[in-house]
Amino acid sequence: MALRVQKYGGTSVADIEHINHVADRVQKAHDKGDKLVVVLSAMSGVTDSLISLAKQASKRPDKRELDALLATGEQTTAALLAMILKSRGYKAKSFLGFQAGIHTDKTSGKARILDINGQNIQSALKEGNIAVVAGFQGADEDGTITTLGRGGSDTSAVAIASSLKADVCEIFTDVDGVYTTDPRICSNARKINKISYEEMLEMAILGAKVLQIRSVEFAKKYNVPIHVRSSFSEEEGTMVVNESSDMESVVVSGITCDMNEARITLKKVPDQPGVSAKIFTPLAEAEICVDMIIQNTRSGGETDLTFTVPKDDFEQAKEISHKVAKNLGAVEILTAEEIAKVSVIGLGMKSHSGVAATMFQALASENINIRLISTSEIRISCIILAKYAELAVRTLHTAFGLDPEK
Ligand code: ADP
Ligand code: ASP
Ligand code: MG
Repeated sequence: MALRVQKYGGTSVADIEHINHVADRVQKAHDKGDKLVVVLSAMSGVTDSLISLAKQASKRPDKRELDALLATGEQTTAALLAMILKSRGYKAKSFLGFQAGIHTDKTSGKARILDINGQNIQSALKEGNIAVVAGFQGADEDGTITTLGRGGSDTSAVAIASSLKADVCEIFTDVDGVYTTDPRICSNARKINKISYEEMLEMAILGAKVLQIRSVEFAKKYNVPIHVRSSFSEEEGTMVVNESSDMESVVVSGITCDMNEARITLKKVPDQPGVSAKIFTPLAEAEICVDMIIQNTRSGGETDLTFTVPKDDFEQAKEISHKVAKNLGAVEILTAEEIAKVSVIGLGMKSHSGVAATMFQALASENINIRLISTSEIRISCIILAKYAELAVRTLHTAFGLDPEK
């Protein structure tokens, strides 16, 4: 008898018909004798609608109340699935994040799970229940409801799987696995059978939203095997596990595209010690994650500093930058929202040279101008104009030999 944690994403619970379909799958696994913890997202589109309601209520919604509101999306689906299972004669019990013992820090909107007290779920399982957990949420030490950031139900599922020492964490979604690139952008994308935590983590960080970043971090840290698969077919999906010798040996294993960043340039900043700290400390204090940073040297003791931030934090980052700029004395600020970050990722890069050259040549062959570049041991990222993003992804997919053999 296996203990399985299954997570179903928004499109898999889009309406009652879909939730009934999820109940069929859950029922099937339960009938085979497996113990099941089912983690659910909100119905697709619901989290966005709740955000839009909040914005109608207030220009800058209070973060605590926004979390209380957003958590209702998952509360709805968890209760509905438990109801359906019970009406079919199964023992089931739904749990909100805090009832499932998910204890987080206090960072509203992007809280981190600190620990999980699995007692309630354990007892429910012992009594023969299917445990249904509302994903994406927890509570801080004061009992305040928190949410885990967009896509956070993946992290709920992996964290629960880790705390219960489950045999597998299955992430059911609307594609049948992790692909070499987003299959919705590139029709040549291929399904990967097995991918290492390390590569999956880079792909998630760089924009492949199929798994939330923190879910992969968690899985890597606690060795939780993840099976990403489709909720609409029986096909085997992608295993996300430790690196092993039977993984495909390619230099580049995936391409990603992230349209969720915006660029800020501070021009004519004094070229003196401490200036960068003055710019980035207030951004850090506002919990804004700065991604790429480039400093150009200019003549006359001045420099230009460019960085990217998540689009969600763009307005706040601009406000902060203007304030800092004023204090630093007459610097000019340029901003751009219509940008995309395309990246190539692969463990093979550690031991291969020429990957950057191939990437730049491929982009040049389509006349795509590169605005910013950053690299790590296993990836290279370029910021380009958003309108070229899909073309860039397809071009790179071909250039790195990822297209299927004809
Ligand atoms: P869910 O609602 O089930 O959590 P998401 O929309 O968060 O689903 O994630 C699935 C989506 O991720 C897919 O529909 C696909 O468009 C996108 N995606 C981006 N990159 C990849 C990739 N490399 N492999 C698979 N899917 C990807
Ligand atoms: N419903 C949340 C979102 O849309 C969490 C999730 O689906 O994972 O981001
Ligand atoms: Mg998701």
